[in-house]
This record gives sequence, structure tokens and C-alpha cells, in this order.
Amino acid sequence: MTENQNDNEVKENDILERIKEYIPADADFIKAVYEGPDIAVYVGNISALYADDRIIKNISAAIKKKLIVRSDSSKLLTPEKATEIIRQIVPPEATINDIKFVPEFSEVYIEAFKPGLVIGKGGSNLKRIVMETKWAPKILRTPPMNSDVIKGVRQMMFRETDFRKKFLTSIGKKINQPIMKSEWVKVTSLGGFKEVGRSCMLLETTHSKILIDCGVSPEPSLRGSSANASKDENRAFPYLDSINVPINEIDAVIITHGHMDHMGFIPYLFRYGYEGPVYCTPPTRDLCALLLFDYIKLVQKNAGTPLYEEKDVRKMLMHTITRDYGEVTNVTDEIKLTYHNAGHILGSSILHLHIGEGMYNIVHTGDMKYGFTKLFDPADTRYPRIDALFMESTYGGPNDITPNRQDAEMAMMNSIKETISNKGKVLIPLFAVGRSQELMLVLESYMANHPNFKMDVPVYLDGMLLEASAIHTAYPEYLKASLERMILSNRSPFESEIFEIAKGERSEIVDKGPAVILASGGMLNGGAALEYFKELSSDPRSKLIFVGYNSSSSMGRRLQSGASEVVLPDADGKLVATKVEMKVHTVEGFSGHSDRRQLMNFVSDLRPYPKKVFTMHGEESKCEDLARSIGNKFRIEARAPMNLDSSRLK
Ligand SMILES: [Zn+2]
Ligand SMILES: [Zn+2]
Repeated sequence: MTENQNDNEVKENDILERIKEYIPADADFIKAVYEGPDIAVYVGNISALYADDRIIKNISAAIKKKLIVRSDSSKLLTPEKATEIIRQIVPPEATINDIKFVPEFSEVYIEAFKPGLVIGKGGSNLKRIVMETKWAPKILRTPPMNSDVIKGVRQMMFRETDFRKKFLTSIGKKINQPIMKSEWVKVTSLGGFKEVGRSCMLLETTHSKILIDCGVSPEPSLRGSSANASKDENRAFPYLDSINVPINEIDAVIITHGHMDHMGFIPYLFRYGYEGPVYCTPPTRDLCALLLFDYIKLVQKNAGTPLYEEKDVRKMLMHTITRDYGEVTNVTDEIKLTYHNAGHILGSSILHLHIGEGMYNIVHTGDMKYGFTKLFDPADTRYPRIDALFMESTYGGPNDITPNRQDAEMAMMNSIKETISNKGKVLIPLFAVGRSQELMLVLESYMANHPNFKMDVPVYLDGMLLEASAIHTAYPEYLKASLERMILSNRSPFESEIFEIAKGERSEIVDKGPAVILASGGMLNGGAALEYFKELSSDPRSKLIFVGYNSSSSMGRRLQSGASEVVLPDADGKLVATKVEMKVHTVEGFSGHSDRRQLMNFVSDLRPYPKKVFTMHGEESKCEDLARSIGNKFRIEARAPMNLDSSRLK
């Protein structure tokens, strides 16, 4: 050891040295390096580590970190030779789509339609691939439905391997500093408290600063500056400028899920100097890509200036570190993050944050559903410890009781039947991510279980919901087990023959006979749904069915409240008053949020009980009522903070 090495380096080496002691001698240890929150070990003889499945697991457990094992580059077979061997090992039924080698990480990515067959029983094929080629195999699923977003994100990651390696190493060095003991824990509400939208919270300790979510308001008129941007613009974004924390001092951003009100502001952070990691689940990363690129296009189409450009979104994606449910990860030296299922949308999560060695534990629900849906299991209720619970309150009011799912489905199908028998068309405007897929499953299973119900009309799918559905089929393990099985056995309900993808002119569909049209554009503020609405609004036989949330200034809300005339842009963009002859119906019960009863049940079923509760993500009265009711019923301290409130938790 030389004299100029400081204490940090000694400690750092300690961790990496410790791993060396666990590596069997015949594995021929070469080096260990930090890679984001994980540690990568390079060896001369990788086979020795795969000889017994327990070796890698035991080392991971001992060092309390994920261990990645790699061959030294001198030991790797040539890509040509390795490809040949992989093709011999993997059965042809796996249908390999692509094999890519990443020498920087000694990894080979095998993309296939049936990843299970690539992996083999108990991982047997993977083991053979490592042993025979020395490359570490990584498996990717080719979604059965084509997804440009997934292709794009994967290509970008391959293109930028060099950057990723440097980025992960520098993050790793930071995270693996010796643990500094914090004296206090504090949170500041920066958005989404006593309101829905622009969710953002700053978690600070003596040594760490972390942002949890960073979204924009759901009102499109509030986002991006445009000619008609309202004076409410300052309600659109989190209060980041008020906290005196320079953007580059934030250690990490953690996303709960891929909705704009939780992540729509993150590219802006990158535009203004943030260079740190963004943590999310793999599907959340892809949904972020889908919605953020779409947001930029939408603002530009309306002659506005988006908050950020595509390159800022790409920068954000390059800085993401994905984690699956249940993986414990250090996001700073003293804070550990674990994602749990939230049941709200694909990849949505409840965060469990463990600070210090047992010093403080926070559970943050993001948006969550503690009830039945066809897509997901209800939100997780088991956590190691909960000192403070931050929970959403979208439907936290005393009267926010939604009908049960069976009744909702019945109401939906009866409403559709009525319109079809009147020779009309049913238009269902949907948020691309979440409700669209739930509704597709409702229609599909109703048809499958009611063979006597001959609807005999096409169900058209149009807009971004197609791409969002494709992303769902790429991550079956994030869906309910029954749905996962269907997708894995090539019976994906998303590709059922009842659905027709809208191609060509929309007017052609409108001119044809009765039909059901599922179109993106949840609140009718834009998207495919608005285009259909323009064509169908004057048809008294047709019907608009709302199944989701309409914000107060949206076109959807105006129609829901019975407006008989609305102003619509014509083909040249000129605004014209249009009479609404079409019927309008709202069916409740399909929400991806918990209703009041489910919120109370969630708290009641939590193990262990939280010591403190903070409500968020709901209108003021709902946040307050929910906090009061939880306080009274469970005899715990419960509060509804407002934006800019700070609380010292410890
Ligand atoms: Zn959400
Ligand atoms: Zn939300």
C-alpha cells in the first residue's frame, strides 16, 4: 500500500478483496470491479464458478450485493465459434431471433421468441453456454407483437455499451463508499401532495439526497409552453427550484411507474445537468420511452415548445438502472431499495427503502391497486419494516366506492350490445398504458366465455395502445400468472382474433357497419380517439363510453358532464363548434387505482403495521379524509402534507 492512498480506497479495496477470498482457486480470479450497485468479477476459468449452483449465490449473500461473473476477455471464444455452439445447445423451437456479443462486458445477448427454451430446465442450457463459450449469456424475449420501442431501447443500449460501462463504474464507486452514519432523515413534498399530478418527493439524510418520482401535471394544457399555455403553468411541474438543492447534488432518482405524472419531468433534470442514475423496473423503462417520445411529438404537433428534446429522453434512458421486484439494491452507501408489485400498471411498484443499518424504513406506494384486475395481482402487503408509509389517495374520499368488477363488466357489455343492435358504433377512448390492456382482456374473455353472444362486429384497435400492448407481451412475468401462462403458450389474449388493427383511413372504419373501437387518447384531448370522435360525434346511434379518469379541463370531462356542443379542430386546424349527437356513457369499476375500501383494506392488511402514514396523490379533501380515517381506525399518526411541507422522520 502506498502512502497516498486515502482511507476510502483502503475500504473500497476491502470489499473487492473480500470477494477474492470466496472465489475458488481453480476459477483463477483476475479482478473485481464495481458495476452500478453490483460487483462484477472477472475470472480466467468461469466454468469453475458454474460447477456448483451455490457458489455464486453464497458469495452474493456474504457480500450482500449482486455478484456478476464474467470471463476475462482473453478466454472468450470468437463470436463465430460461440454462435455455432449456442445454436447447437438451444433447441430450434426456441426460435432465436438475434445473437449479439458485447465484448466490453463479456456478455452475449440471445433474443428469442421462447426464452424459456433458451434457458433450459433449471438453467441447464445457460450453464452449458457459459462453460463451452465462456461468454455470460443474457436472455431477451422477442415480444410476440412487434414493438418499435423495445427494439429502439435495446439497440440504444447496445450502441452505448462504452458509455454504460463508464457510467456504471462511476456510480458503483459512489455507492460503495464506506457507509457514513446519518443522524437524521427528512422528506420534502415537491409535487402531488393534496393534488393529482407532478408527483415528486425529496428524501434526504445527512449524507444522501434522493428524488422519488418526478412527474408533470396530467393537464396537457399545463405542460410545455405553447401559445395558449395558461397562467396555471406553475402548477405543472414539481417545486424543484425552491429547495436549494443543485440538480447535480441529487444522488439518485427512483421511479415508481411509467405514467407521465410520475416521470414526465425527469428528462428535464438531465437537460439541466443531472448525470446520476434513474432506478426503475425494466417494463417501466420501456413505458417511459413510449410516453416521453410521444409527449414531445404531441407538443410539437400543437405548435408548442416541449420542455425537453428527444436527446434528453435518450440521456435519461442511458442512465437507467433496472431492477426486478424483490431485488435489494443499494442506491447510496446507506439506502437500500426494493421494488414490490403495486398492481397498478405494467411494472408499477411500491418502494421499500431501508436507511442505515435498521435506522429507518419507508414504504411509498406510488399508484397502486389493492383489488381485482385481469392484468395484475393486487399490491403487495408484506414488508420487512415500515416506519413511515406514503400512500396514494386518488379515490380516498368517503364516497369513492366503485362498483365491483363483475357489475362493471356487465354494465360495459350491456352498453355495447345496446349500441351494436341499434347499428351504431362504440368508441372507447383509453389511456394507452393500463386501461387499454385491461379493457382488451375484458372484451376477449367475455367473448370467449359467452359463445352465444354473437357480437359479430369487429373490435378495432387504434393508436399508441398497440405499442403499449406489445410491451406487455415482452414482460409476461410481470403479469398475473394465468395471463403469463397464456402468453407463454402462444395464446396471448392481446392477439386474439376478435381484435383488428386499424389500418388505412379512419374514415373507412367509420363508413363501415357497427363496430367497437378502442382508441388511445384517454381524456379525448388528442390521439386516435379524438379523430374518431370528430367523425362520430354527429351520429345519434353511436356511443362514447368512458372507463377512466377525465381531468377537470379535458374534453372528456365536458362530454361526461353532458355538453351538447364542443369546439373541435377541423382538418385545417380551425376550431369549429360541433353539436354532439352521439350518446355518452361512463362505466366505473375498471380503475387501476384502489377505491376507498381497498385503500383502507390495504392499510389493515399491511404487515407489519406502519408507525406513521402520509397521504398523497389525491385532491385535498380526499387526502385529508383518508388520513383522518386511517388515524381514527388504526390509532396511528396519519397526516396529509401539502406541497413544500418538510417532515423530519428521524
Ligand atoms: Zn399511475
Ligand atoms: Zn399517478
